Amino acid sequence: MACTALVGINWGDEGKGRMVDLLTEAFDVVVRFQGGSNAGHVVINQYGKFALHSLPSGVCRKGVVNILGNGVALDPEILAHEIADLKAKGVELTPDNLKISERASLLLPWHRLQDELEEARLKDKKYGSTKRGIAPFYSDKYQKKTVLAGELFDPKRVKKHLLALMDWKNKILTAVYGAEPFTEKDLDTWLKESCEHIRPYVQDTREYLLQAAGDNKRILFEAQMGTLRDLDYGIYPYTTSSNTLAAYAPVGSGLPGADIDRVIGVVKAFSTCIGQGPFVCEYFGEEADRFRKITGEDEQEAGRSRRVGPIDLVATRYGVEVQAATEIALTKLDVLSTLDEIPLCVAYELDGKIIEKMPFPSVLGDCKPVYETMKGWKCDISGVRNWWDLPEEAKAYVNRIEHAVGQVVRWISVGPERHSIIRRG
Ligand code: GDP
Ligand code: MG
Repeated sequence: MACTALVGINWGDEGKGRMVDLLTEAFDVVVRFQGGSNAGHVVINQYGKFALHSLPSGVCRKGVVNILGNGVALDPEILAHEIADLKAKGVELTPDNLKISERASLLLPWHRLQDELEEARLKDKKYGSTKRGIAPFYSDKYQKKTVLAGELFDPKRVKKHLLALMDWKNKILTAVYGAEPFTEKDLDTWLKESCEHIRPYVQDTREYLLQAAGDNKRILFEAQMGTLRDLDYGIYPYTTSSNTLAAYAPVGSGLPGADIDRVIGVVKAFSTCIGQGPFVCEYFGEEADRFRKITGEDEQEAGRSRRVGPIDLVATRYGVEVQAATEIALTKLDVLSTLDEIPLCVAYELDGKIIEKMPFPSVLGDCKPVYETMKGWKCDISGVRNWWDLPEEAKAYVNRIEHAVGQVVRWISVGPERHSIIRRG
C-alpha cells in the first residue's frame, strides 16, 4: 500500500495545487486531509484558471477520484458554491469522482463570525486569520462541539444536535463578544441551501480508500498551507489550526494505516508569507515593493499584501526535515529571471551568533537574516523543458538549494500552466 504525499515546505502558496494538477496524470485518487476553505490552490488547465478552495486539485483530471478526508474543515456553504462553479465551467463532479468523508466535521454557521469577532477583539495582537472560521472550527472539533457530515443523513437528529450546539455557542457569542445570537431559522437556511447540496457526495471514504489501496490504486495526499504553518511544528501561535505535515495524512485522509513512501515537498524559489508571525528573511520598504513587483506578488490577497523575501534556506531545510520530504518540486524559478543577482537567506544571526538551524518559534522574532547572492541568468526560462537547457546560473541556484536541503529537486516549475515543468530523472 504505497502512497505519496504532496506538501508545502514554506509558508504556503508554494504552488501545491499546480503540482497536484500536473502529477495526477500518474495517480488514481487525490485526498485532501486537513485544512479548510481558506486554501487557494491555483490550477491552470484546459478548463481555465481556478483557485480551488476546498476541493482537491485533482478535480480537473478525468478518471481521478477526489476525496475530502475526515481531517478537513468542511464548510458546506463554500464547498457547495465551489462545486456549482466548477460544474458550470465544465468540470464533471459526481459522487463517483468526488467523495466526502462521512466523518468529516462540518464548519458551522457561527465559525466564520466567531473568527472575525476574535480577531477584532485581539486588535494589534491578532493572529492574521483568513477569517474563514478555521480556528474556531478546529477548537470546537477537539471539544466535540460540531457535527459529522454523515449526520446529515438523519435530518431530525442532526437538527437536534445543531440546536444544542447553537444554544451553547450563542452564550459565548452574546456574552463574550456582544454579538447577535443565531436562530433556528439560520440553521434551517444553512441546512437547505448548503448542506443539501453536498450531502450526495458524503460516503464512507475509509472503506473506499481501503479497497483502493488493496487494489493497488495510486493514492496522492494533498496538503493545504505550508510546514511553517503546521500547528505543532510551525511558528506557533502564528500557525494554522491543523497539521500540514505528511505525517498527518494517513489520519486525516481516512487511511490510518497508509504507508507513505514518497513525500514531495513543494519549495518556492523565493519566500512569500501572508498574515502575521515572524518571517526572518523578509524585505521591507522599497526593497520589498521592488521585489514584490519583480516576482509578481504585488496583488493583494483578502485585502492583505504579501510579505516577501529571498529563499530562506534555514526555514526550507527545517521544512524538508519535519516533512521527511524525499524529493523536491521547486516552483516559480521563471519569476527570478530578470534579476542581476539572486538573493538567498543562508543563515540567521541570533544574539551575535550565526545559526543555520531553525530556532524555537518565540526567538524567531529576534533573528536577523544573513543574505548572500548568486549570479542571475537574465533570460526567459519559461519555455525550457529540459534541465540541460537551463542557463548555468539557474542550474547553480537549483543545485545550491538541493545541497542546502539535502534532497533532490526532481521538478522545476517555470510557469503556472500545467505543462510548464522541467523533470529531472
Ligand atoms: P498553493 O496554495 O500552494 O497551491 O499555491 P497558490 O496556487 O496559492 O500560489 C501559487 C501561485 O503561483 C499561483 O498563482 C500559481 O498559478 C502560480 N505558479 C505556480 N507555479 C508557478 C511557476 O512555476 N511560475 C509562475 N510564474 N507561477 C507559478
Ligand atoms: Mg494558496
